[in-house]
Amino acid sequence: MKKRLGLLYGGKSAEHEVSLSTAMAVTQAINFDEYDVYPIYITNEGEWRKGQPLLQPVKNIDNLQFTSEMGQSLPNDISSFLPEEREENASLDVILPLLHGPNGEDGTVQGLLEVMNLPYVGNGVLASSAGMDKVVMKQLFAQAGLNQVPFVYFIRKEWQKNQEQKIGEVEATLHWPVFVKPANLGSSVGISKANSREELISAVELALKYDRKIIIEQGITAREIEVAVLGNDEPKCSVPGEIKPLTDFYDYQAKYKDGNTALIIPAEVPTDVLQQLHEDAVKAFKILDCAGLVRADFFVTDSNEVLINEVNTMPGFTPFSMFPLLWQHTGVSYPELINQLIDLALERHEEKQ
Ligand code: ADP
Ligand code: MG
Ligand code: MG
Repeated sequence: MKKRLGLLYGGKSAEHEVSLSTAMAVTQAINFDEYDVYPIYITNEGEWRKGQPLLQPVKNIDNLQFTSEMGQSLPNDISSFLPEEREENASLDVILPLLHGPNGEDGTVQGLLEVMNLPYVGNGVLASSAGMDKVVMKQLFAQAGLNQVPFVYFIRKEWQKNQEQKIGEVEATLHWPVFVKPANLGSSVGISKANSREELISAVELALKYDRKIIIEQGITAREIEVAVLGNDEPKCSVPGEIKPLTDFYDYQAKYKDGNTALIIPAEVPTDVLQQLHEDAVKAFKILDCAGLVRADFFVTDSNEVLINEVNTMPGFTPFSMFPLLWQHTGVSYPELINQLIDLALERHEEKQ
């Protein structure tokens, strides 16, 4: 019997457009003989809309953006997004949440799906929310013995009350340059590099616009190498990939707008570095209790020191994104990757029952 796949995409997030491209690519890769695809679109305003089931690949992104005329609006009753909800056994078999950032990748949607007892692809509530908060994530990494840059963090109130003291803490713990980031965001939004006290103050003010909690990290000069992890209890690692930002750092513009960031796959690294990357990627996956997938992002210095930067619990997933490309180079095609992720979701759901 065909499986009913709920495609959840869009979202009230800076990465709305990216999510739409991903959803389109997924419909092009999915086997329609195996799956019935039910689109569930979240508008930029955060409204949920259900479209007609898709019968074939979507070729035009506009066809995925249901306006109030095109799609049934579901503002208050989320359970109504289930197809023909009054029919017996009519629930969706599995949800593929193609959402990034807050309200998508941070455990909130995952919690909703848990409550509805729907199997879904990817990380659960805990891994998603711990992975979204860079401070919590780094504290857990430290506990797992992972090597990373030193950091300090504080909340808005502490900065407002004791700015001098906080600057003192930064200067005592780190040296210039430092990276200032909102704790709970992705896509480099609100991140800046500070080379002095003055720059630190404006960087903190900027980051505080996005979050009440911020993290300040030791800036380092290093290669940026990423590893894709796939699995549940016995996760597997892909070949490593390198990002060569043509800008000062891998900012939002470089990630999504210019498209001229070079991705080098596989990244050239010595065998012992590769081993370390794989070991650390699995450690990071396990300490956050990840499921399905994660992309682990590292810094590798000139002297081949490996430091973990972060994990992304719902990494970019267009066919041109690092995560699928890494698997492609490891021998798992894009359609096969989607199948495996769905199988992992069902396996995990089964285990919980
Ligand atoms: P996001 O979750 O938004 O991707 P990251 O922590 O990965 O945030 O930071 C975005 C980019 O900023 C990184 O890919 C890297 O280019 C640069 N960067 C972040 N932290 C540091 C650091 N401590 N030292 C040097 N570069 C950094
Ligand atoms: Mg991130
Ligand atoms: Mg990053």
